[in-house]
Amino acid sequence: MKLQYKSTRGGNLVDSSFAIVKGIAKDGGLYVPTEIPKINKPLRDLINKNYKELAFYIMNKFLPDFNDKELLDCVEKAYNQKFDTEVIAPLIEKDDAYFLELFHGTTLAFKDMALSILPHLLKASKKKLNIKDEIVILTATSGDTGKAALEGFSDVKGTKIIVFFPKEGVSKIQERQMITQRGENTYVIGINGNFDDAQNAVKTVFNDKNFNELLKENDHMFSSANSINIGRLIPQIVYYFYSYLNLLKNNKIDNNEKINIVVPTGNFGNILAAYYAKKMGLPVSKLICASNENNVLYDFLNTGIYDKRRDLKLTSSPSMDILISSNLERFLYELSNRDYKLINNLMKQLNNCGVYEITDEMKKGLNDFYGGYADEEKTFDTIKKVFNKYNYLIDPHTAVAYSVYKDYKKETSDETKTIIASTASPYKFTKTVYNSINDNKIDDDFKLIEKLSKYTNTSIPKALKSIDKEEILHKDICDVEDIKNVIEKILKV
Ligand SMILES: *Cc1c(COP(=O)(O)O)cnc(C)c1O
Repeated sequence: MKLQYKSTRGGNLVDSSFAIVKGIAKDGGLYVPTEIPKINKPLRDLINKNYKELAFYIMNKFLPDFNDKELLDCVEKAYNQKFDTEVIAPLIEKDDAYFLELFHGTTLAFKDMALSILPHLLKASKKKLNIKDEIVILTATSGDTGKAALEGFSDVKGTKIIVFFPKEGVSKIQERQMITQRGENTYVIGINGNFDDAQNAVKTVFNDKNFNELLKENDHMFSSANSINIGRLIPQIVYYFYSYLNLLKNNKIDNNEKINIVVPTGNFGNILAAYYAKKMGLPVSKLICASNENNVLYDFLNTGIYDKRRDLKLTSSPSMDILISSNLERFLYELSNRDYKLINNLMKQLNNCGVYEITDEMKKGLNDFYGGYADEEKTFDTIKKVFNKYNYLIDPHTAVAYSVYKDYKKETSDETKTIIASTASPYKFTKTVYNSINDNKIDDDFKLIEKLSKYTNTSIPKALKSIDKEEILHKDICDVEDIKNVIEKILKV
């Protein structure tokens, strides 16, 4: 039986190309594969594959309606010299932990791993489905998605990209990266509100039936570059296998030896990819879900109750400042043995009351995970300790992960080898990083790029060298209520 996709909330089967073009299902659910494919050979047989070859091998299993040439072409265009290292995702060993550096793409965060390929998957899907409408990528971003999506889609024919970011919820460097974006088809708008406000408002427009009809009449259609799109999720599975194979190849682990994976988590996309990898046959013991002070997931994994009724806190790891982790719905779907009625119910409760509790049967499945969180103090302290001990700089998101890992070890004495998903370059968050390791506190993100480099004797990533001199091309700001108007104006509908 060919692998296809269906919504977590029920409905028809569709091909992967359709799911990629649509982004989110009509009923508001997320597309999930009819089964999670298995790796049916010893992993050791794969150790000599380079990143591109492995990406093809893994993704091919999820995208059966793409022919080899189409998929190879996408992979080729994505994982090339846009990355500043040929290995694409280096693994850095520091004692008992291996930092999987996922920030070597153009925008210095792990979102590049998937967003460098999504536009190509989307273009190929569109062609395959003979869709002539212009695709409008509509995205709300907590910082890193926005820039990575803008880079990926900039000047891609047949697409426009509109990015909304919370004015008060991204770092200065993240903001500057976005508002200096080039490309005729790119639009960037700051909104007065936080990430959840932005994401909810975008979701509402996305699902607005009348508005979608209006677009159709004008030869446009919406799609999403958020991690709800399976075209984002699938490429993220690749690097978990890649890092495992790296350990295997270098004799750091034995055949079938289990590892732990720690992921600094916001929307639950990156860690869900690790969960899918485990289901495919990657030997994973614990999936360690690390949150910042917005610790909804920590509470959920420890109680089975998801409760978003709290204020969003702005932290130094802004890409994790999220109260509704969209991708959790896909995990719940697996946990419930694919009971779409139950998922509908839970999501209704979340929408109406802001809280739900999963069944006792489902709670048993939470054992795959360990949930922890780090407050701001711990985050800063971790950056400092890791730098002092290993002369290795980590960004605040990665620091949250490492801090939770240390707590986990203390609590369990588990000696399993562990991979830490390192999700952003420390240069993207210079203020937090510099001030964590230096007593002379300085408040200027841009000046700090140079200073951080001198102080730590590390080199400035190419993408940031002249960021403070680039022309600001996007100046619009709007209120949450005006998002729809702004989109109408851009699309002239
Ligand atoms: C997006 C992001 C995260 C969170 O990833 P999710 O897939 O949303 O859980 C963590 N760290 C960084 C740097 C990010 O950009």
